[in-house]
Amino acid sequence: MPELDSSSAPTIRVRVAPSPTGDPHVGTAYIGLINYVYARQRGGKFVLRIEDTDRARFVATSEQMIFDALHWCGLTWDEGPDVGGPYGPYRQSERTEIYREHADLLMANGSAYRCFCTADELEAARKQQIAAKLPPRYSGTCRNLSAEQIEENLAAGKPFVIRMKVPLEGSTTFKDELRGDITFEHTNVDDQVLLKSDGFPTYHLANVVDDHLMRITDVIRAEEWISSTPKHVLLYQAFGWPAPRFWHMPLLRNQDKSKISKRKNPVSLVYYRQAGFLPEAVLNFLGLLGGGMPNDINGGTEKFTLAEMEQHFDVKNIRLGGPVFDLTKLKWLNGEYIRALAPADFYAVLRSTVLSDAYLSEIAPLIQTRVETLGQFGDLTNFFFADNILPTPEVFVPKKRTLEETLPFAADQLAVLEATDWTVEALEAALKKLGEEKLWSVKENFMLLRAIVTGSTMSTPLLESLIVFGKARTLDRVRRFGETQKKLASQKK
Ligand code: GLU
Repeated sequence: MPELDSSSAPTIRVRVAPSPTGDPHVGTAYIGLINYVYARQRGGKFVLRIEDTDRARFVATSEQMIFDALHWCGLTWDEGPDVGGPYGPYRQSERTEIYREHADLLMANGSAYRCFCTADELEAARKQQIAAKLPPRYSGTCRNLSAEQIEENLAAGKPFVIRMKVPLEGSTTFKDELRGDITFEHTNVDDQVLLKSDGFPTYHLANVVDDHLMRITDVIRAEEWISSTPKHVLLYQAFGWPAPRFWHMPLLRNQDKSKISKRKNPVSLVYYRQAGFLPEAVLNFLGLLGGGMPNDINGGTEKFTLAEMEQHFDVKNIRLGGPVFDLTKLKWLNGEYIRALAPADFYAVLRSTVLSDAYLSEIAPLIQTRVETLGQFGDLTNFFFADNILPTPEVFVPKKRTLEETLPFAADQLAVLEATDWTVEALEAALKKLGEEKLWSVKENFMLLRAIVTGSTMSTPLLESLIVFGKARTLDRVRRFGETQKKLASQKK
């Protein structure tokens, strides 16, 4: 463990700041875990802040799902919207007044300005820049409006945003605790919008104001935010505040090294819970990703608990090479944890997860009118409990269709399912709309999806089954179906 600084340094305070825009992401748990351990090792505080200012992407159920998923992984926080704390509120949508006041402060000291450009004007300027092979950025039209022009625009009721006035020359350098100094030329830093015309702040303003007001000492976040950091550093300077330390953790990657994405991996923590991963294994796996643990821990087995992480994790061990989110490895690790359970505990885990009363009682009504003996329960419901459902083209290609027509339609179905609320009504409407657009009959459309998810053309009622099976697992199954078919097609060539 790194030596603790016993001087009068302020209490270490860190945070994880997810945006409630959908299912809780494995990346949130990964960054949350590192922050949690960092705080625990230093007698510090770990804060959970909900960054919900992007109203267009806001999903109402997402916040609770984030709490539940992080708790499931074994993480707890000292302050947050659900537990309160001395620096709340911890939900940004409840702090809008604070951001507006701070935007005013920046305007008053000349670090920000009102921009009245319309969406069309901005778009036209952007197109011109792209045509001229210049990086698209704000052209600066409103940077130097006179007091009269501003008054005129305001009197005319023109909507405006507030932008930060990034110096036109020079550069900003900040220290990344893992990488050393990083410099950005100001010519590459845009006049970022701070406050939108609806009065809501952008991520940058809210994030900096909150990190300061919440006394955050260390910002530990994913690498993808590095390019935002010069803006943040300039904001700290504009407010006259000291900046926190910045640590940018290596980004999680798919097998092919691209940034982790739901196209290639299940990224929802809900998926891992529902698909029967043990939280201890998931946490252990996430703890391995950044490489902060010593290699020889527990005899080099790579297995460790959260308590062991608190003891042995060391930022000095962090490796910057993008860690691959290797599902095969996670499965292996999960298997290790399963085998280590006492038989009675294994049974108890099954009964509280994939064979829980809650799950079984949702499945039972779907088959009651379809069986003659109870023994047929398994015949009709195996897909609720199985992992590998691989229908053959004889099963999934509708009679009047070809394989070549069917696979793109299945990809369309996946996109539609991703974007749909998980209710029978919403699913039905979205799938039917797709069918109408692509001229697939309801029968063909539903039959294909049924075959993909259940492996059979005869089974329990489709939409109700999807609801019980869950969005995360359905998406994974449809995605894997597409991947498998792609692989098979390339083998044939
Ligand atoms: N709301 C940002 C996110 O969703 C937070 C990034 C940061 O930690 O500054 O990841």
